[in-house]
Amino acid sequence: MEVADGAFTTVDIGVPAAGASILPGVVLPGFADVHGHAFHRALRGRTHDDGGTFWTWRERMYAVAERLDPDTYLALARATYAELALAGVTTVGEFHYLHHGPGGVPYDDPNTMAAVLRQAADEAGVRLTLIDACYLRGGFEVPLAGVQLRFADRDVDAWAARVADLNADDSCRIAAAAHSVRAVPAEALPTVAAFDGPLHVHLSEQPAENDECLAATGRTPTRLLDDSGFLGPRTTVVHATHLDPEALRTLGERGSWVCACPTTERDLADGIGPMRALADAGARLALGTDQHVYADLLGEARALEDGERLTSLQRGRFSPPELLGAVTAHEALGWHDVGAIAVGRRADLVAVPLDRSGTAGIDPAQVVLAPTTVDTVIRDGDVVVSGGRHVLGDVGRLLVDVIGTL
Ligand SMILES: [Zn+2]
Repeated sequence: MEVADGAFTTVDIGVPAAGASILPGVVLPGFADVHGHAFHRALRGRTHDDGGTFWTWRERMYAVAERLDPDTYLALARATYAELALAGVTTVGEFHYLHHGPGGVPYDDPNTMAAVLRQAADEAGVRLTLIDACYLRGGFEVPLAGVQLRFADRDVDAWAARVADLNADDSCRIAAAAHSVRAVPAEALPTVAAFDGPLHVHLSEQPAENDECLAATGRTPTRLLDDSGFLGPRTTVVHATHLDPEALRTLGERGSWVCACPTTERDLADGIGPMRALADAGARLALGTDQHVYADLLGEARALEDGERLTSLQRGRFSPPELLGAVTAHEALGWHDVGAIAVGRRADLVAVPLDRSGTAGIDPAQVVLAPTTVDTVIRDGDVVVSGGRHVLGDVGRLLVDVIGTL
């Protein structure tokens, strides 16, 4: 492979040129973490003491959100993105809703927190899609309260005006989201859907969302989104765990992306979504780490397949190439020139060595299904991870320092 200006100019099979660098093991395209919230990383391994539910977990998450300021958010996001890079992620989709200061008071620059996330991604060596999420209420017929005020703009027009001030560049794209049908009223959804770019939304993660949406609107969340013009090929729905047959069919017919976050759905006891059926219906699959209970996108792919096996009692529900496709879904984040090792594509590479304890003896074609072992990560031709070490140094120390502060 030869690279110029961050893109492949030659991809060939043969004897390497003199002076070429040789990457170890199997070399894959860089991975895309299509859905995550960097600040949730501070919750890992801290929410299991009293069991609890999705909703009590959410209270803990709010407590972290309450404490963050631009400095601590920068440090936490930078370390979190660096941890993802160690696992082969080259594009991060940050589903961003922690917009404002305490009490919901906007910062002098209302996009201060967005700027912090962009800086964090740059310093961690990952490309970013900043998915700015509209968040207007606490739930169906429930007003905003407490830390939720930090998530909310005055109304959907104020959200749209703030997002219009965000500019894309070579390492950052802008996408829009409705946080969920819980947090965005039906009448505001068309304004969010009018955004010119990728659209994201949390969908039917918990049965309670479906029940409340039906009670409040007479429609399922999927039907409500579809009626609002929200669903199409540029749309990514996140989770899609609890779908009725009509919702499943609609997502397939619209050709939308479905982003499963299997380790989060497992951790929060959400359930196992119908991912094989969605793919068969025409939806395209992506994967996200969501709450960062693990920072391992290949692990998400294995959890996707494992969930299918456990519910269907069949092996091989997704082939290794299908799983690899799901970990390289950069397109769902608006990056159409990333995700393949081919001339003209951006030069993102992940080298998986085959001489380590986790990978020794495996069939290279099935590397996705072996324990994640990453030696080298290259993004846009630049080395971000080498010998399993991030250019920022000791990522564990970076995480310990900032989580300790929080
Ligand atoms: Zn999420």
